[in-house]
Amino acid sequence: MESKPKASPQHSETTGQESSSSWAEGLPLEARYRVVILGGGIHGVGIAHDLASRGWKDVLVVEKSIIGSGTSSKSTKLIHGGLRYLQHPRDFALVAEGLEERALLATLAPDIVKALPFIFPVMKKGGMPRFMIKIGLWLYDTLSHGRSMGKHVWLSPDEALKEAPILDKTVFKGFYKFFDGQTDDLALVRRVAKSAKQLGAKIVERTKAESIKHGANGWNIELRSGEKTKTVTSKYVVNAMGPWAHEIFKASNIEPKVEGINNQGTHLLVRDLGLSTGLFLQSPADGRIFFVLPWEGYTLIGTTEDNYTGAPDDCTAQPEQIEYLINRCNQFLSVKLTQKDVIKTFSGMRWLAKDPHSGLSATSRSHLITRHERGSDLLFTIYGGKMTAYRALAKEIGSAIAKAFGDTSPSKTNEPVMWATGDLMPLELMVPQRFSNV
Ligand SMILES: Cc1cc2nc3c(=O)[nH]c(=O)nc-3n(C[C@H](O)[C@H](O)[C@H](O)COP(=O)(O)OP(=O)(O)OC[C@H]3O[C@@H](n4cnc5c(N)ncnc54)[C@H](O)[C@@H]3O)c2cc1C
Repeated sequence: MESKPKASPQHSETTGQESSSSWAEGLPLEARYRVVILGGGIHGVGIAHDLASRGWKDVLVVEKSIIGSGTSSKSTKLIHGGLRYLQHPRDFALVAEGLEERALLATLAPDIVKALPFIFPVMKKGGMPRFMIKIGLWLYDTLSHGRSMGKHVWLSPDEALKEAPILDKTVFKGFYKFFDGQTDDLALVRRVAKSAKQLGAKIVERTKAESIKHGANGWNIELRSGEKTKTVTSKYVVNAMGPWAHEIFKASNIEPKVEGINNQGTHLLVRDLGLSTGLFLQSPADGRIFFVLPWEGYTLIGTTEDNYTGAPDDCTAQPEQIEYLINRCNQFLSVKLTQKDVIKTFSGMRWLAKDPHSGLSATSRSHLITRHERGSDLLFTIYGGKMTAYRALAKEIGSAIAKAFGDTSPSKTNEPVMWATGDLMPLELMVPQRFSNV
């Protein structure tokens, strides 16, 4: 059933024509840039794209592995407002922003961001009551301000089972259908990277930022690629290294402005279970929402949510997390899954600013940007954020940098003309061969 595994992004030597360049392999690096961005996830390349769309070409992104290989290829692959965040009124604005970005991304990269129908079943016992689900879906449609991907409807059991024949009908008393966006997250990151490059930004892979020191000329960033090291200087630095963000602070004796925490999420890929819609399910035992989704010829199940204190490079799916997801599915599905059904797993970390007043899963997904200032030289660090809303976050940082520099040129990443087409990577990285075998 399983096709021969190909190289994972972390270990790939075959990363595509344009993307295989590290500066140590002959791509020249200038000694000085106006902006250096550390980390080539969706936020790093999104900020480069934002600045390049304002006409700034003097921008460098450094990625220690390959573009998109961190959290940005380990997501649930939804481009969404986040229906479940409506449980917290403080996150309504976050949901509205996500819905706006969803609509925009579906027009800017329509081959990568597509509408997917979802079924939200109403449980016979436990789970959210029907009226509450109805209010949530109404709010979700309303917050999309006329740019919804389709309005929610109530389905008959026959209609629901036609789209999701694996649902165990004895458990549910009814079904809502609504719409959201789905993507290939790695393809999206690499499309944004390609767009940034096309507009003049420089992006180097397999290049690790080892330390940041401030000196008379600005921020000095020590880079390493294999045995070679080089120091580049810049006026502005963005630490977009996500779960790795504080490693470089430790190496550089820089005190972070806030405490960061990593929240691990594991996903499973099993054989195609015949779904033509996603399933939005709530575990009655702990109230957690999880998804069962058709994706790239597989069924994707996730996610778990656990505090993670280990080294970010060592974050892998744990047996108890795999078991948790299988058990949750088996409560709702007529097919009973076992460990043997799991073909691949992948695990990523949400990098969040710690909120001392709330538990882990309540810590807001809304982003936080901190600033270290040395005279007029600035170092920004990103906490939180969503793949869906990366463009808005990138614009916020792009605007802060442009303003500090006295430049009023606007961000234009909402304009189709600023977007590249095609892909930066060979096809084998766009299919699930890139994930861990079990
Ligand atoms: C389980 C899970 C599910 C999610 N699902 C969704 C979803 O469905 N929809 C959604 O909108 N959002 C989702 N998110 C959130 C989204 O995935 C993240 O917000 C986003 O990917 C974060 O991107 P980033 O660029 O900040 O970090 P990353 O993608 O982690 O990028 C950081 C990069 O920095 C690089 N790096 C690290 N150290 C160095 C160094 N020293 N030098 C150079 N480079 C370095 C890393 O290799 C990495 O590529 C999910 C997150 C998780 C964890």
